[in-house]
Amino acid sequence: MNPFAVAAFTVERRTIRLKTPFITALGRKDSTENVLVGVRLRSGVEGWGEASGSVVNARLRPTMLAAALRRMAASCRGRDARALAALTRATRAAGRTVLPAAAALECALTDAVRRSLGLGWAAWFGGAKARVETDLTLSAAPPAETAAAAQRAAAEGFRVLKVKVGTGYAADLARAEAADAAGRRGGRRPALILDGNQRLGRAGAVRLSEACLRRGLRAVLVEQPVPAADLGGLAWVSRRCPVPVAADESVQGPEDAVRVLAAGAAAVVNVKVAKMGLIGAVETVAAARAAGAGLMIGCMQESALGLSPSVGLALGTGAFGFVDLDSDWLLEADQPAGDFTRAGPWLSAA
Ligand SMILES: [Mg+2]
Repeated sequence: MNPFAVAAFTVERRTIRLKTPFITALGRKDSTENVLVGVRLRSGVEGWGEASGSVVNARLRPTMLAAALRRMAASCRGRDARALAALTRATRAAGRTVLPAAAALECALTDAVRRSLGLGWAAWFGGAKARVETDLTLSAAPPAETAAAAQRAAAEGFRVLKVKVGTGYAADLARAEAADAAGRRGGRRPALILDGNQRLGRAGAVRLSEACLRRGLRAVLVEQPVPAADLGGLAWVSRRCPVPVAADESVQGPEDAVRVLAAGAAAVVNVKVAKMGLIGAVETVAAARAAGAGLMIGCMQESALGLSPSVGLALGTGAFGFVDLDSDWLLEADQPAGDFTRAGPWLSAA
């Protein structure tokens, strides 16, 4: 009997409420409906993963993710979970349109293997860091709401705030200024990441960045100002923008990272386990590091359970200059438990 063989699996949908509605240039959400996947090995050891829908990709309905997960998990039954590369290749090929489902299953299988070996997530990925500091994302809300959220964040210890922009120059600037003014702690300005979610535009990105710097705001990064496929536009912004540019939606895996960096389209690559999976994320980290680019790690709307592999990747590789792992913090406390410790912005191994 092979103790590492996949014996059984469960797929379960969970609706988790957000503490406050989440608004981006693309939509608004009050709760997130995620899909949990659990695998049990013949030894009895279990592993878990979580697929989260996204405001950005409304096609990814929970019913679709759950159906894909059932199909993919069933194909793993009886297989040796340690054959992670082969299993991952097969599930990703079968699930091109539902990559978060393939990623969640990869996480669950890896979780079961690393638990079997007695390794924490951070140790699994190399154990480089004892803790990392994450930012906190603020919705694309009106300035008064942004100010209230930024003030709360500062009181909770967050020093890096990610502001959703792409809602028009005046509204974007007002929101960034509100975050800057209300997010100060002991007189120190928060660092600001401006996330355009593809809606900022070429000239808009440069104009907003310049205006922020002129006003003394600590804008440190502009994320995905133009549509994912517009690498020419991204390169244009990268050449002219006084703030470094990060590629997020433009990079779905290591091949995209190579393409984006070869085009000089971004200084930083945003790695997300939800879209790349774990092996894809590690390969993307390697590609970006080899090209001398900076790295960011982000998330969808995973609970602490689903966020655990990403926290482990950040801690274990120590590769990320920008950590945007805040989804558990944005959800109500009644959520599936994770395998890491959080103290405000500080994330460490459990
Ligand atoms: Mg983004």
